[in-house]
Amino acid sequence: MGTICEVERIVNEFWESAPSNSLHLETGEKAWAEPHVAIARGDDPLFLRNKEMIGPFLWTPEEAYALAFPDSPVPACELRVISYVLPQTPKTRADQRLEDRMPAERWARSRFHGEEFNCDLRLHLAETLTRAGYPSVAPERLPGFGYQHSERFGLASNWSERHAAFVAGHGTFGLSDGMITRWGKAVRFGSVVSRIDLPVRERAYGDDHHAWCLWYAKGTCGACAKRCPADAITTSEGHDKQACFTYIRETTTPYATKTYGTGATPCGLCQVKIPCESQVPPALLPKP
Ligand code: SF4
Ligand code: SF4
Repeated sequence: MGTICEVERIVNEFWESAPSNSLHLETGEKAWAEPHVAIARGDDPLFLRNKEMIGPFLWTPEEAYALAFPDSPVPACELRVISYVLPQTPKTRADQRLEDRMPAERWARSRFHGEEFNCDLRLHLAETLTRAGYPSVAPERLPGFGYQHSERFGLASNWSERHAAFVAGHGTFGLSDGMITRWGKAVRFGSVVSRIDLPVRERAYGDDHHAWCLWYAKGTCGACAKRCPADAITTSEGHDKQACFTYIRETTTPYATKTYGTGATPCGLCQVKIPCESQVPPALLPKP
């Protein structure tokens, strides 16, 4: 234990074997395609920058760790944030591409059952590392996890999986606020803060939080804005969180509950049928 490969093995074995990694369809197919892991240092200055941007309620890795281990807090430099990406499967993405107002059934199922698996995976990773001698916590699973009002961003949680993923080097934000990773934007994230000495790779995009979006990098594309049935994305203003929230609460959630019998709050129409659906737009990557 104590290498990235070993952490990846814990994540991959659970992804392979956990019964909860399922869309709960007769086909027996998994909720997610194969996961990917990246590591951030607990004292990466971007965590403090995110706190300044979003609000004082946003936990740093050190604060999240101290909540879980109040009797033995450690300095941020001894912590690592293990962030993982769970990509939507090709079938889920293909179904969702056919929709333009409501989420496809597979998408609604991954948002509901797949997120249940994601919660299991967070806890499994934290517990397995803790048992092996590396005290760990899944901040999103802490009792104090919740949402508050950010002056700049509206409703925001006190631990952001997407911001942790950005610091770890998984990807950057797009026009729709979704995160564009090497496996695209049709993904979900999870993370664990651990007292473990794992090496950290340099981010391919430095500190530029919009580097992999065609709109921000080149002033082209805007495809995600055209995909949103609620006009909640514009090239002038970006993502209107309130309009998105209202459409999901009032339209897609009741539809999915009634039609598919799923819970949670699915939509994600802006995450497919776009150049960054399953990759970084090639024009933005350095030539090999
Ligand atoms: S669809 Fe285009 S504009 Fe929207 S996030 Fe992706 S690259 Fe950016
Ligand atoms: S999640 Fe749905 S409502 Fe929100 S921006 Fe994307 S397409 Fe629009």
